[in-house]
Amino acid sequence: MDPEEFRRAGYAVVDWITDYWATLGQRPVTTQDPPGTVVAALPDAPPPEGEPVAAVLADLDRLVLPHLTHWQHPSFFGYFPANTSGPSVLGDLVSAGLGVQGMLWSTSPAATELETVLLDWLADLLGLPERFRSTGTGGGVIQDSASSATLVATLAALHRASRGRWRSTGLDRRYRAYTSTEGHSSIEKAARIAGLGSDGVRTVEVNPRTRALDPAALRAAIRADLAAGEVPAIVVATIGTTSTTAVDPLPEIGAICAEYGVWLHVDAAYAGSAAICPELRWTHAGLEYADSYCFDPHKWLLTGFDCDAFWVADAGELVEALTVLPEYLRNTASETGAVIDYRDWQVPLGRRFRALKLWFVLRWYGAEGLRAHVRSGVALAGGFADRVRADDRFEVVAPHPFALVCFRLVAGDEASAELLARVNGTGRVLLTHTRVAGRYTLRLAVGSPQTRPEHVDEAWHLLARTATEVLADLPAPA
Ligand SMILES: *Cc1c(COP(=O)(O)O)cnc(C)c1O
Repeated sequence: MDPEEFRRAGYAVVDWITDYWATLGQRPVTTQDPPGTVVAALPDAPPPEGEPVAAVLADLDRLVLPHLTHWQHPSFFGYFPANTSGPSVLGDLVSAGLGVQGMLWSTSPAATELETVLLDWLADLLGLPERFRSTGTGGGVIQDSASSATLVATLAALHRASRGRWRSTGLDRRYRAYTSTEGHSSIEKAARIAGLGSDGVRTVEVNPRTRALDPAALRAAIRADLAAGEVPAIVVATIGTTSTTAVDPLPEIGAICAEYGVWLHVDAAYAGSAAICPELRWTHAGLEYADSYCFDPHKWLLTGFDCDAFWVADAGELVEALTVLPEYLRNTASETGAVIDYRDWQVPLGRRFRALKLWFVLRWYGAEGLRAHVRSGVALAGGFADRVRADDRFEVVAPHPFALVCFRLVAGDEASAELLARVNGTGRVLLTHTRVAGRYTLRLAVGSPQTRPEHVDEAWHLLARTATEVLADLPAPA
């Protein structure tokens, strides 16, 4: 592809994305295809001769778009949002065009230094404790995902708890990780990868009303393990659990971790973004106890996947846990100790220039623009919850401090599941579900960049109308 061909094709691709975003709201949010639909439509082999980009764009329209779940759709209310935005896409495009590797400071100095500064900016925006700044012992880094952040935190915690054995000879005793019964699945996955096994994870009871971790139960679990000769290594607390956005009580949890010398990692994957709004920053109270913290700008801060912001209070410990130095990576800058080599802060060696999309986003929106996005989601979700509460066929099942509302039909699990299947079956909205204390629960998460009040209104009217049909069709309870 010569430069002029690239320029033309590049403009065509940007036009294609622009048109996609402009017409997105008219598409079904998701598809009802059986598995294998796309496989059956694709040729068996790649083309023997090259083809123009226009041919690929035509196939995107024909073969890909009709068979996607459209996460940027204004009526996408499933899971948590996975935001993207114009500036994020453009920043990513620049990163792709530069194609640099930022594994060491010396392999691309600006890639490292921009990332360090942006993570300090973000720490300021979220009001994170001073010790996470790069100006002290700590610092931030971009991981691909919150799952990776939890894994890296687990490895550093094991390094600390085993006094270096995890790194040298491997674990000599049974080490334990703790989270609530509502903790994310990535915590168990990290424990398996780190060698603790699923049984190494203690799941601690939650308060039945708030769904937040019960500190007394955490203390009891740690004491029982200590009495049995096991080593408590890490507690993962959550700000905004995946199921219902419960906020674990960090001040109490932090005090327990400090008392027993256990690493505290705080997973705020979704809800961390809310802390850019001062009125929502109460959710981070107690964070000064944390050894590490992460949130996903790729969920709610208008930055495309993948972008997880991860901070540690003591970067030296993390680097010590993960560094391996073969001859071919030796360089004078690293040897001076004056530079950050982010390869030692993550699992892979190589790393792309993810800071660019974050830089484009922070500069385009500014702090106020990002706050406006978060506030609009919180307000729309609050309005939706009011309507659910005002209809006595429904109930709201958990507090909703952010932009997720959990609710169900009072008639029970069967009716609630049928309601979800029917509204999603229309293709006009996408909601997902969870179980809260064993009961089937619908989740409506606001946060897609194009979502406006009318989309949330429409979702409510569709739910209310469909509930009437579902309740009429279901056999009356005996
Ligand atoms: C979404 C989520 C994760 C996983 O996020 P990834 O970045 O996709 O790994 C982890 N923890 C919580 C609380 C989440 O909501």
